[in-house]
Amino acid sequence: MSDQSSLAPANARAPLPSVDRVLAAEAAQIASERHGRTATVAAVRAALSELRPAWLSGVELDVSPERIAAAASLRLEADERPSQRRVLNLTGTVLHTNLGRALLAEEAIAAVVAAMRSPTALEFNLSGGARGERDDHVRGLLRELTGAEDAVAVNNNAAAVLLTLNSLSDGRETIVSRGELIEIGGAFRMPSIMSRAGARLVEVGTTNRTHLADYADAIGPATALLMKVHPSNYRIEGFTKEVTARELAPVARERGVPLVDDLGSGVLVDLTTWGLQRERTVQEAVADGADLVTFSGDKLLGGPQAGVVVGRRDLVRRLAKNHLKRALRLDKLRLAGLEATLRLYRDPDRLAERLPTLALLTRPAEKLKRLAERFRPSLEGAIGSQFSVATVDLESQIGSGALPLASIPSAGLAIEALSGGGGALTRLSAAMRALATPIIGRIADDRLLLDLRGLDDEAEFGRSLFELGLAAGAEGRP
Ligand SMILES: *Cc1c(COP(=O)(O)O)cnc(C)c1O
Repeated sequence: MSDQSSLAPANARAPLPSVDRVLAAEAAQIASERHGRTATVAAVRAALSELRPAWLSGVELDVSPERIAAAASLRLEADERPSQRRVLNLTGTVLHTNLGRALLAEEAIAAVVAAMRSPTALEFNLSGGARGERDDHVRGLLRELTGAEDAVAVNNNAAAVLLTLNSLSDGRETIVSRGELIEIGGAFRMPSIMSRAGARLVEVGTTNRTHLADYADAIGPATALLMKVHPSNYRIEGFTKEVTARELAPVARERGVPLVDDLGSGVLVDLTTWGLQRERTVQEAVADGADLVTFSGDKLLGGPQAGVVVGRRDLVRRLAKNHLKRALRLDKLRLAGLEATLRLYRDPDRLAERLPTLALLTRPAEKLKRLAERFRPSLEGAIGSQFSVATVDLESQIGSGALPLASIPSAGLAIEALSGGGGALTRLSAAMRALATPIIGRIADDRLLLDLRGLDDEAEFGRSLFELGLAAGAEGRP
């Protein structure tokens, strides 16, 4: 090419077609019916301007209207995919905060869908015909299941802690052990939440050791609360001393200062029933004498995102009356999902069948290993001879700060790159993320690991592997 600025090169190649000519092509007609004319025109313009620089520089290109219409149509299909779309969580972390934590039970899904479709008795007392309180829908169940006197539900557990501190400790002191000033990913740092809530943090003890006397000595006229925080995502080991909520409760009662126990994960059943490690339940926290207990709805409880505070009636009433509650309250959809999830706990024997998160956590590793064996040939076929695939034993985590150091024996597939250098695995994991239903694994020790404990849909995994093979073929990967 001698003259790159010329729109009519000397070798008289076919010119780029006009937008109208592309729109007349069959693929564009079909796209227009499916996505509307406006979006299709925009996609055709975009496809044309993407081609123009290469065409101007003289690269041999298929610039037929059909070809450009097809490109525009692919672009429209890709744009049509929801941004928040389903993925296959093969990370090995079952309750993955970045992947949306707990999967809802069918009963909860049905309740949410029903609440979406119709007016509901959200804040309407059907027996009296008067205005009701939205938390009434879960209060009874929460009282029954936890043994607490009263309950409120809010947006998440961070909100539950914020509301508790603001309602009971605004401008006053809350005493916390230095060993429990946690940060839980993202922007949840206990000291920051405290200052946002207006509470003055009084740290007691040291990072590894806190004694009962440390709490007792710190209580003064400005003390509003004693607080225990579950060290959700770490553990202090070695020369340590922690004061349990049960030990702290008598001191709290004697000195007339309420004790708050932030449990994090809202476990309502004995997890050892299913071979999982023991985790203190909400009932136990209430029985140990905490005046308020806070926990999440979408961790081990297995419900929608929510935060719950249960405990002493007079204190819960103060939370419910705080104007912040209005800003932190649950909408009707999540309340419906939470109510339906809690209802399942009335029949604990069937929980592992009905709560998908519990079902995933309790699948035997042996079964996962057989599953991995079954999928290995399709994975090998899809990614080609540049990689090797092995069935491996893995360790899954519950995630979201539940039992941070406990791991569950699991199994899955480990991919190693035989050629292509360190970039090969990164490119493969990017290709997996680009699928219609992305496969999310994790890279560790130069291997891409697909932990099957979190696999909730085997057929979809099969389809995704098939698509991965097609994509590899199209790119000419070996
Ligand atoms: C997870 C957790 C929180 C935050 O809960 P969200 O529901 O994520 O807002 C607070 N405290 C503890 C101890 C936690 O484990």
